[in-house]
Amino acid sequence: MKTAAVERPPGTAADTTTTARPLNVGAVRADFPILSTQVHGKPLIYLDSAASAQKPQVVIDAERHIYERLYANVHRGVHDLSMRASEAYEMVRGKVARFIGAPSAKEIIFLRGTTEAINLVAQTYGRANVAEGDEVLITTLEHHANIVPWQMLCDEKRASLVIAPINDAGEVDMAAFESLLSSRTRIVAVAHVSNALGTINDVASMTALTRERARNAVVVVDGAQGVPHLEVDVRALGCDFYCFSAHKMYGPSGVGALWGRKTLLDAMPPWQGGGDMILSVTFEKTTYNEAPFKFEAGTPNIAGTIAFGAAIDYLTNLGLKAVRAAEHDLLAYGTAALSAVPGVRLIGTAANKTSALSFVIEGVHPHDAGSILDYEGVAVRTGHHCAQPVMDRFNVPATIRASLGVYNTREDIDVLIRGIKKVQEMFA
Ligand code: PMP
Repeated sequence: MKTAAVERPPGTAADTTTTARPLNVGAVRADFPILSTQVHGKPLIYLDSAASAQKPQVVIDAERHIYERLYANVHRGVHDLSMRASEAYEMVRGKVARFIGAPSAKEIIFLRGTTEAINLVAQTYGRANVAEGDEVLITTLEHHANIVPWQMLCDEKRASLVIAPINDAGEVDMAAFESLLSSRTRIVAVAHVSNALGTINDVASMTALTRERARNAVVVVDGAQGVPHLEVDVRALGCDFYCFSAHKMYGPSGVGALWGRKTLLDAMPPWQGGGDMILSVTFEKTTYNEAPFKFEAGTPNIAGTIAFGAAIDYLTNLGLKAVRAAEHDLLAYGTAALSAVPGVRLIGTAANKTSALSFVIEGVHPHDAGSILDYEGVAVRTGHHCAQPVMDRFNVPATIRASLGVYNTREDIDVLIRGIKKVQEMFA
């Protein structure tokens, strides 16, 4: 057995420590090659990180390094390259665990992303534990990825999907949430941060209420928009499952993670069958591997997972406290700037929010505004943001959403505001 140190792609660290330096946005911008590209002859102003964040050079280099120097299938070969690739891949599992405060790397399952993680929980834990008459509690502000898998489960099991409402600011009504918890509740599934509104849910309180009022329930957190902006500690949140995607936190697309408590994972049946999730197979009987491998059938996104580790290092080295402080400042600047434009209405004004500025412009369809802004080089998302119930709640078909990342500046907001004024002139 080889005992050499684990090979690390460029820019990745064995472990990471948080720093308290303020964010140097100028230096950060230089890390992202795409920011020097032009769109329609204008400098790119990227305000769509909630859909997917751009990638720093260290993440691009890490992925390239794997294919150039370290690529082989993982967990299979006794040959040197396969063992080194496996070690680099498994090292990321520990990195993910530390990044979210999980007690053990064995509790981290690599998947395609948040959507797949939520589906896994619904199809394994959910199918085994939800029965006719039971309830799954979600909130109005969920992304479709945290609605549809539960709807499918409830349909199959004749269980009920129960929805905790939100107020006019886009905050979950905690009194209503509490009153909807009962001995019938089996699963509570909530976003850490709403992608459409930017609301930060008080997950720790939601979990505490669940423990008090619905002792049979587990709490699943959709952390897709949490991990890029907040220091996450699953132990402090007190939840049972936490799901997220690498691509929203400056890592590659096609990879993400599910954290689950070991006792729950051990008791859950496997999901997909195939290679790597078994200990032995005969035509009569298959014995499954232990968690997390039990849930990882087939060849994974090897290079993407290792580059995911580089993204965790990158974000950790910036320091999530510094990221949060910078984004908070920019959100306040953007909120004030948008509020000062007559005819612009912000959708989502929670007291505790991050990173997303959703708005509508009076008399202009969001898609028209999005196209005009695009010609100014400004990339924003327009539409329902895979959160149609949120649009229904606010009585709008769609919004324009400017979402912030570590590379955004006040100048980006200024260009957005000038673009909005141009849109208004064209529709005047
Ligand atoms: N939940 C939230 C809150 C999201 O913002 C997203 C992505 N837009 C998802 C879930 C789904 O993530 P993915 O597409 O990476 O699986």
